[in-house]
Amino acid sequence: MEKSHDKVWDSCLNIIRDNVSTQSFKTWFEPIKALKLASSVLTIQVPSQFFYEWLEEHYITLLKKTIKKELGSEGKLEYSIIMENAFSSNTKPYTVKIPTSNRRDAKNPAVNMPLDLNTKTIRNPFIIPGLKKVSVESQLNVNYSFENLVEGDCNRLARSAGWAVADKPGGTAFNPLLIYGGVGLGKTHLAHAIGLQIKYKHPGKTVLYVSSEKFTHQFIDAIKNNNQNDFIHFYQMIDVLIIDDVQFFAGKDKTQDVFFHIFNHLHQTGKQIVLTSDKPPVEMQGMEQRLLSRFKWGLSADLQIPGLETRIAILEKKLYIDGIELPREVVEYLAYSITTNIRELEGAYISLLAQASLNKKAITLDLAKQMIDKFVKNTAREVSIDYIQKVVCDYFDLPIELLKSKTRKREVVQARQIAMYFAKSMTKSSLATIGMHCGGKDHATVLHACRTVNNLMDTDKRFRAYIEELEKKLSIQ
Ligand code: ADP
Ligand code: MG
Repeated sequence: MEKSHDKVWDSCLNIIRDNVSTQSFKTWFEPIKALKLASSVLTIQVPSQFFYEWLEEHYITLLKKTIKKELGSEGKLEYSIIMENAFSSNTKPYTVKIPTSNRRDAKNPAVNMPLDLNTKTIRNPFIIPGLKKVSVESQLNVNYSFENLVEGDCNRLARSAGWAVADKPGGTAFNPLLIYGGVGLGKTHLAHAIGLQIKYKHPGKTVLYVSSEKFTHQFIDAIKNNNQNDFIHFYQMIDVLIIDDVQFFAGKDKTQDVFFHIFNHLHQTGKQIVLTSDKPPVEMQGMEQRLLSRFKWGLSADLQIPGLETRIAILEKKLYIDGIELPREVVEYLAYSITTNIRELEGAYISLLAQASLNKKAITLDLAKQMIDKFVKNTAREVSIDYIQKVVCDYFDLPIELLKSKTRKREVVQARQIAMYFAKSMTKSSLATIGMHCGGKDHATVLHACRTVNNLMDTDKRFRAYIEELEKKLSIQ
């Protein structure tokens, strides 16, 4: 007889506890609930897609080992993520199952929903053999909608091209639409948003989102099972094919070959193709020339790192979606401190919520500072000149534009000198860089500012108190 899922998960937790820090354990393992255990498959419920991705990214090896230890070599783990379906009136949450131990196995679907394709004659590679009528539609994550994708300078072109494509799939010059950009900048989100919008506006169209990794594994399976033709035909029936992270095709000649044929067929029959990649076509290596030249047929649009305002807007959007209120200063602090990409920003935000709720603490600026200190990589941890300027301006109740201007009004000059002083002592920026940020001054002016502040601190008690108070506001910890 099989053990109960609770017991098994408890034993797993005991092993995990010994292998991760207390903080990580609290944040990432305590919120997990074991749901069921059947045929050596343990299903665990995780609170969000992000949570799932975090586990897969950081703890996959540990989880695998633990499961095998508890359930034997046959042991597997499935995740259940609660999601809401924005486009159906049926608000019942549905479940996403993503097997851990063979996540790449094409036979395992990601989202179980009925497919409106006629799949009687052609084997659908998303169907799990043995389970009747379980097939996959679209594979789209409803949270990744256009509505949830904040617009900024960083994504304006890509976003509007995506919107145009969604309006008239296959009917614009943007075919294929290739979205490229660094990690965590919203490629996958935009790709889903386009798919969701097409399903909304053109319910009759068959939309399919697939990662190039999954596509590759499905193809390998098709070769193994000798049903390559079914594989090709399945993909040739799709009206809107969205392939994420095509750079993964690099060096995989056979996959590129089959994709080339599918691409041609779809393109010739006026079907829409949307691709994402971590680099522009000119920089893609290991990709056949004929594919690269096709990638350039339509539009390549890039995603950039969002500026501060967009980062704040993204956080505010998240708060709104999650129905959470955070002090404005916390939102700003997160947005100021985490400049690398949106995924990291979200990660910090979620860790902060998790910590606050697990430790039953209010989310304050202090907690945010402590958390950033622990979670964010060293490079992103340094206080930025922008942040210093903002804190100083808030403190003296000055508009930041004045501080950045060339004005020589006394109160502005002093605030500017103080900002320079902190920029010098708290960041690694050069004197020239600091000067440039503070009204286009040269390095000598910055040096002079630092001396002036030091002198005043020695001679003027009140001034010293200002500086100490500001220092507290700025310091991490
Ligand atoms: P990529 O595929 O480029 O690595 P993702 O699409 O996975 O990046 O984005 C990382 C996270 O950032 C996702 O959770 C996504 O929802 C969020 N995100 C990215 N861009 C935006 C945006 N403009 N507005 C709101 N959230 C965004
Ligand atoms: Mg992605």
